[in-house]
Amino acid sequence: MIEEYRNLINGKMIATNRWMDVVNPANEEIIGKVPSCGEEQLNEAVAAARQAFKSWSKTSIEERRDVLHAIADTIEASHDELFRLLTREQGKPHAQAEMEIGGAPANIRAQASLEFQDVINEDSQDRLSRTRRVPVGVVGGIVPWNFPVLMAIQKIAPALLSGCTIVLKPSPFTPLTTLKIAELIADRVPAGVLNIITGEDSLGPLITAHKDIDKVTFTGSTATGKKIMEGASKDLKRITLELGGNDASIVLPDADVKKVAEQLFWASFSNAGQICVAAKRIYIHEDIYDELSSAITAYAKEVKVGDGSEQGTGVGPIQNKKQFDRVCELIQDAKDNGYKFLLGGDVDPSGSGYYVPISILDNPPEDARIVAEEQFGPVMPLMKFSTEEEVIERANNTEYGLAGAIWTENPDKGVEIAEQLETGTVWVNEFLHLNPLAPFGGHKQSGFGVEYGMEGLKEFTYAQVITVKHDAARA
Ligand code: NAD
Repeated sequence: MIEEYRNLINGKMIATNRWMDVVNPANEEIIGKVPSCGEEQLNEAVAAARQAFKSWSKTSIEERRDVLHAIADTIEASHDELFRLLTREQGKPHAQAEMEIGGAPANIRAQASLEFQDVINEDSQDRLSRTRRVPVGVVGGIVPWNFPVLMAIQKIAPALLSGCTIVLKPSPFTPLTTLKIAELIADRVPAGVLNIITGEDSLGPLITAHKDIDKVTFTGSTATGKKIMEGASKDLKRITLELGGNDASIVLPDADVKKVAEQLFWASFSNAGQICVAAKRIYIHEDIYDELSSAITAYAKEVKVGDGSEQGTGVGPIQNKKQFDRVCELIQDAKDNGYKFLLGGDVDPSGSGYYVPISILDNPPEDARIVAEEQFGPVMPLMKFSTEEEVIERANNTEYGLAGAIWTENPDKGVEIAEQLETGTVWVNEFLHLNPLAPFGGHKQSGFGVEYGMEGLKEFTYAQVITVKHDAARA
């Protein structure tokens, strides 16, 4: 019997008469059914959010914080059930699913600690002028399939804290853990404040176009982000877009090869490479190229690819067939062009599950598709460079601008190069570390606006300036 999951609308878990299947990418078995919502359910959810906004926007920040803490506590209490379900629907190995579910409560609590202070613009004999922040209203949140829970709370926490209400749409590929959380927290959040509805991709444009949604916050591909910006322009909805990346990691000649080999491997292959800020292009100085590429390859050979629920698996399957086909196409393109693989490159199409072997390419040209495009899979191109100037130019030669990393024994030199990269985040000697109190967002076509920190929270609000003219007698 396949379990049916329900949507959260106006405080109740609701079913529809149309369903979508959710597949385990490790074996292609159907593991759940979720409602396939259309305009009718969206209208219900938006109406509930609009109604709830009237009272929620007037609650104190302490009340809103309490609700966020209750959500965090609930996720924490169901950690085991949630991470196992996450692996089944997303494919990531248990240890990585535990990190996502285990990190969620801390992430919510950190975001819940933020608070706006009014700003006094003028306090004179003539007038008192102050700026305060007011919530934008009803938010539409649209989430991808690579970090379904983290990306959902990245939207829910600031929306609720700022006094907005939200209608959230998980990816059709990975809705189960989010709906399980919805079920667990349904009676801990006032009705209508948080609504979670599932549907095909076609539900997304309905959210963008909905006349009663005031803001869309979206994480996903740059192509979809552009459509959202276009749709949102019709009624000037506020938007925050977290989009794709093609992040460069730059390894300087003084880097500690042994240490860096393992870190670079995981910077690229965690979550089977399906991370917006994964290391997608690795530039290694020519002096250490042979030594480091051999060390990475040797490490990679020890990592097991397989079902994420099996012990010892380091790299799971690709999350869905569409992405699997895309990664296979990029590998095939590399083979057709005669690029050399240090490891992998042969996808076995027999058997079930969307498995791509760990694949490492040896110095493909800069215009190879596997270098120029975001691969979003377990394929790592290693490239040689000679000078700093050259590598900075190559790293910046992309329409993306999400993140990057420098690896060196000289942190000052790392920072000097970091400041020349055209990206929203740059790490020196680490990778993938995001702080919910620091703004995260892409430059260029990797995004619009930011999430996290005060700057991210601000995007859920308008500025309102209230000026009181003192009467002459008082002055
Ligand atoms: P996607 O753009 O295909 O889908 C993301 C979400 O948008 C899904 O919920 C989908 O149903 C919905 N959607 C699809 N078409 C839509 C439309 N026309 N209007 C509105 N919504 C629509 O992305 P994906 O394949 O799920 O995710 C992978 C991409 O996400 C990669 O490019 C990755 O780099 C990016 N990503 C970025 C970040 C970041 O923070 N910058 C984080 C994670 C993933």
